[in-house]
Parts: sequence; structure tokens; C-alpha cells
Amino acid sequence: MRIEEDLKLDFKDVLIRPKRSTLTSRSEVDISREFSFLHSAHTYRGIPIIAANMDTVGTFQMSQALARHDLAVALHKHYQEVDLVAFFKALPATTTAFYSMGITRADYEKFQRVKDLAGDAITYVCVDVANGYTKVFIDFLHKLRAAYPDIVIMAGNVVTGEMTEELIIDGADIVKVGIGPGSVCTTRKMTGVGYPQLSAIIECADAAHGLGGLICADGGCTSPGDLAKAFGGGADFIMLGGMLAGHDECAVEVIEQDGSRKVPFYGMSSRTAMDKHSGGVANYRASEGKDVLLDYRGPVENTLKDILGGVRSACTYVGARKLKELSKRTTFIRVARQLNEVFGAS
Ligand code: 5GP
Repeated sequence: MRIEEDLKLDFKDVLIRPKRSTLTSRSEVDISREFSFLHSAHTYRGIPIIAANMDTVGTFQMSQALARHDLAVALHKHYQEVDLVAFFKALPATTTAFYSMGITRADYEKFQRVKDLAGDAITYVCVDVANGYTKVFIDFLHKLRAAYPDIVIMAGNVVTGEMTEELIIDGADIVKVGIGPGSVCTTRKMTGVGYPQLSAIIECADAAHGLGGLICADGGCTSPGDLAKAFGGGADFIMLGGMLAGHDECAVEVIEQDGSRKVPFYGMSSRTAMDKHSGGVANYRASEGKDVLLDYRGPVENTLKDILGGVRSACTYVGARKLKELSKRTTFIRVARQLNEVFGAS
């Protein structure tokens, strides 16, 4: 047994120090990015925020709403093949949508069939497992990269620099970072495993960038300020679940409860998700996701404006004219308290 004594940080442990700036308005800030990839020859252009591949958030409707602002979606993996093919064939070239899959033989064969029919319309693929540290996951990445040299592969999840490097060498263009920080995740509670998300981002970004790879910070953002901290810590992309949940685009029924409107949201390893997609929780495993009821939030458009406005404003506070400059201009200060919650937490 070993104990690491280095301090590891979460979003709540820091604030971003303001810096002298010549910017006068947040409208001068450009928060889109352009990326080329280590393995794939594609170029990405857009605002690098991705809706999570959860069946409540990674929907076709969400893709359309986010595309209006140049954001991306990772579609959930439970759509029917015909619907996926139709969606990708109709996808405008300027919109980024990730096809998501696990690493079972069935996942791979479904991808082969959909890709055969949709062709080059599928450029971005997200290979998603709860634990990105296993040999079967790495073997799967090798197989996928060898068969599809042109696609952009995002793979995860991991939280350490050495595994980020490993996945990039194995064929990932983007490594997805986060174990346990999610809003409806109970992994830390059920297993005791995890890593404070801001430190995971800082360490994995450093490792990835050293090799020409990229990272996507996945999970744990609860406010626009957390996105600014994630980008400031070196995240190239950010994936959001809970912040985009509860909206019209979530393809979940709105429920009336005690006179207010509620929308279900649940982890993809929760009992609800497993009942829906896998015929229940298998005997050998525990559910590692929460089921919650959120207040209904209307169209995602307003939430998006808050998120994008917050990130733009963070850039003006540190004098970053482009999102790309934010991490170079970020100095984090450790804090004991960051919010004044005298009138409530929101
Ligand atoms: P959020 O933005 O809601 O904090 O985090 C979203 C992320 O939580 C997802 O992209 C995914 O990585 C993770 N996640 C979603 N469902 C579950 C679950 O049931 N269990 C765990 N451990 N993580 C989940």
C-alpha cells in the first residue's frame, strides 16, 4: 500500500485569478477552436463542448439545438441502426456528432454495419467504457484504429497521465478524462475509486499534449465557471451531462409532481438505464448511477447562452482573446470558500 501526499484539486478548490487585459467586451472573445488530430487527418472546427452520450442528453434533438451554436453531441449508443444511418446521412458537414459505442462484439458489429451505410458521414467515434484501464479496451482500440484509420477516435475514461499516453499511442486522438465526478455517478461511493477532476484534467492534458493528442474533460461541471476552470486547466473538449439535462431536447417525458414540472435524469449505469437497455442489473454487479428528478428547464437554448456567456466572460477576465489562450493565461488560486450561498446555492 502507498499513499500519494500531493494535493489533488477539484473545481471547487480553486478560482481563476483575474489578469490585466486590453479586452473591453466579451463579444471580442472567440471561444471556437480548430484542432487537427494525431491519427486522423480530419480538422475540427467549433465550440469544443459535447453533450454526453447518455440516453437523456445525447439525442438527435440535442444535436440539432447545439449545432446552431457550433457545439457537438456524442449520441447515446441505444439508437436503432436505421435511425443512426438516417441521422448521419443528413448531418451537415459543419456539425460534429460522435457515434458512441462500448467494446463488445455486438457494439463493433453494429458500428461496422452503420458505418458501411453512412460512410464518411461518420467521422467522430466515441469509445466509452467506465474503466479505461483494461487490456480488452486497449485491444479494442487497436482493432478499431487498424480497421478505420481515418476516423477521429475519442476513448476513455481514464484519469492519469500514463494511461492517457497509452491510449494515444494505441490509436486515440482524444482521451476522455473522468472517473467518478459525474452528477449522477456513484462510482466513488460504490467503489472508493476516483480522482479529483481538475487535477485529472491538468495531468492528463499535459500528458496528451506532449504526444500531440487531445483530451475531453468528462463529468463534474456544475456551472459555467467549472467549464472555464476545465478549459483553464488544459481541457481541449468538455463533455456535459447534468448541465444539459432537464430540457425539451432530452427526449424524456415531463412529469407533473406536486404542481411543478419535473424531468427524469439518470446515470447510464443506474438501475433505470439498465432496466431500460439491458433487462435489469446483472447479479454480479451493482448499479453505479443515480436516478434523479430535475426541475423542467424548457429549451436548452437559454442554458447554452449562460454557459457560453460564462466562458467568454472568463476569457475577458484573464485577457484571453481566444479560448486557445485561456489555459496559458490561467493562474489558479486555491481557496477555502468560493461562493457566497447566503441566499441559497443557486
Ligand atoms: P455530468 O456532466 O453529469 O457531471 O457528468 C456526465 C458524465 O457522467 C458522463 O459523460 C459519463 O462519463 C458519466 N456517467 C454517466 N452515467 C453514469 C453512471 O451511471 N455511472 C457513472 N459512474 N458515470 C456516469
